[in-house]
Amino acid sequence: MHSNRYRLEYPLGQETLVINTLNGAIDVFPNELVQLLHKLPELNMADMTREQTEAISYLKSRNYVYHSKAEEEQLLEKAMVFARKTQVMQYVICPTYTCNFRCPYCFESHDIHDKISLLTDEQLDAVWQAVEYFHQDSGLQQGMFNLFGGEPLLPFTRPIVEKICEKAVELDFKIGCNTNGFHLHAFLDLLTRYRDRLKLTITVDGPEEIHDQRRILSSGKGTFQRIEKNIESALDCGISVLVRINIDKTNIETVPTLVEHYMDNGMLGRPGFKVHFAPVTDHTCQSTGDTIMQGIEILRHLRRNIPTIDELEKKEQVLVGSDMYRYIYAVSKLDPELQQKAIPFLPNIVFCESVQGRKITFGPDNHIYACADLIGRPEFKIGDYYPDFQLKEWKWEKWKAFNSLTIPQCRGCSSAPICGGGCAAEALVTYGNLDQPHCTHAGEKVMSYLDSIRDDLIKI
Ligand code: SF4
Ligand code: SF4
Repeated sequence: MHSNRYRLEYPLGQETLVINTLNGAIDVFPNELVQLLHKLPELNMADMTREQTEAISYLKSRNYVYHSKAEEEQLLEKAMVFARKTQVMQYVICPTYTCNFRCPYCFESHDIHDKISLLTDEQLDAVWQAVEYFHQDSGLQQGMFNLFGGEPLLPFTRPIVEKICEKAVELDFKIGCNTNGFHLHAFLDLLTRYRDRLKLTITVDGPEEIHDQRRILSSGKGTFQRIEKNIESALDCGISVLVRINIDKTNIETVPTLVEHYMDNGMLGRPGFKVHFAPVTDHTCQSTGDTIMQGIEILRHLRRNIPTIDELEKKEQVLVGSDMYRYIYAVSKLDPELQQKAIPFLPNIVFCESVQGRKITFGPDNHIYACADLIGRPEFKIGDYYPDFQLKEWKWEKWKAFNSLTIPQCRGCSSAPICGGGCAAEALVTYGNLDQPHCTHAGEKVMSYLDSIRDDLIKI
């Protein structure tokens, strides 16, 4: 007999809410039953009363107790298969590290934005060879080139951007482009040719007065009007645009105003235009984290302040990223405000595509990075693609093995199946290695979320 170590317990007086973090089951048990579960390793089946045997058989049916450790291992294997379901290999290519914006919160250093850098044709040829290697290694059919930077759409990057788009056609890959949108108009004729495989993501931080304080040019000038005009022109060309709003305490109050603005001017409703809400993260530990909000806090706030959110979501004009539900997938169905929105539970053993070996980044500095948030920091590279392809296999293997079932500190943690072991970039920046997680304290996050809906839990 083996009790499932992957469970969280939330006291509710005479009863306890028990969350099975491996399969997402939630139960309210009398405290005596929970104590039995705790004592299970010391109990001898032969000495048990009939009530105890019956109770254990119920716990078995809910996967809190297994016949053997091997049974638990099998379930973990299954969870791993779910976690590895991404079928697209992403290649993030930075044509340049230069950027014309000076957003105060940017995770990249403005030193690399100041310098003019640009991939050469020779470097790009070397990138293609590396892509061939990684694609074969991944065993995946589908691929995507993601144009990233610095700012990928600057006047001098156009020839390289064109070559990347041509290669995407040759390989039948999708194209993604994370742009600030400022020079988009100068690329529209080019991008229109690839619009069937292209997805543009443009960050807008809030309505004009907020955006213009944060998404600023190096001269300090705001950019809202020009970006909005460019988005409209892109839509006129039939190019899909995803406006990403990165949300934290500093702009959350203004997000409903921006959504209203997009409704009033008719952008929300135009084919190809979507708004994506995403929590601000600080994976490279640049700030104190004081302004960062949990996805769930953001979601609640938006649901209360955007009256049309349900309708917009239904029409897929507004996307709520799965990041918003991170850690609380299993328990979100207990929240009366989220019940309708609760997504089916899936274990989250692996934190992101980078540690799944599904994302590789190439910088103009000749380096290969496992995560795009680490670009321009050679101390964290996993190899070089130019002048010669040199992959530090052991570093790459470390990345691919960074998950909550393989990191020793995480493996025994009751939150492992809902956590994934946290962000690898964060661990690397904090500790200089991937031998330990930068702990997310996922269990505590679930507990504090349950505290916030405690009154509703009592009614269960
Ligand atoms: S390691 Fe993953 S979660 Fe962390 S910054 Fe990179 S992509 Fe994001
Ligand atoms: S990062 Fe922390 S909370 Fe997450 S699985 Fe590892 S030890 Fe547990």
